[in-house]
Amino acid sequence: MSSGEELLRSKGLRVTRPRLAVLDVLAGGGHLEVDEITRRVRQRLDSVSTQAVYDVLGALSRAGLSRRIEPAGSPARYEARVGDNHHHVVCRGCGEIADVDCATGSAPCLDPHTAHGFEVDEAEVTFWGLCPACQARRSADD
Ligand SMILES: [Zn+2]
Ligand SMILES: [Zn+2]
Ligand SMILES: [Zn+2]
Repeated sequence: MSSGEELLRSKGLRVTRPRLAVLDVLAGGGHLEVDEITRRVRQRLDSVSTQAVYDVLGALSRAGLSRRIEPAGSPARYEARVGDNHHHVVCRGCGEIADVDCATGSAPCLDPHTAHGFEVDEAEVTFWGLCPACQARRSADD
């Protein structure tokens, strides 16, 4: 049994070829847009509709097998790194995204002074800046 099958079964999800293919693509790492995931899934399976890929991603995300992030100004992206409270650093120049370990280790990383009676379980932290390539480009332009 492949690790993809084990993952799906461990979450009580039916094992289907599109689900296995999407898991396999996500296991390659990175933060991928749906278009890119669809393109790579089609290299593995003959025909898969974009809607089918969306459906699979929704099911995987609900089951905690993939994580959906949506930095401001960027389409939704999906990744296989789940179960930790890692954050993202996003380049303002080119949109490159990298993982950053949580400094405190567990959610929520920040304690609000007042939560208005809410039970807070997560703080959405995104770091913004310029990636090394964009920094080099900026220096070259000067
Ligand atoms: Zn950049
Ligand atoms: Zn990530
Ligand atoms: Zn944190």
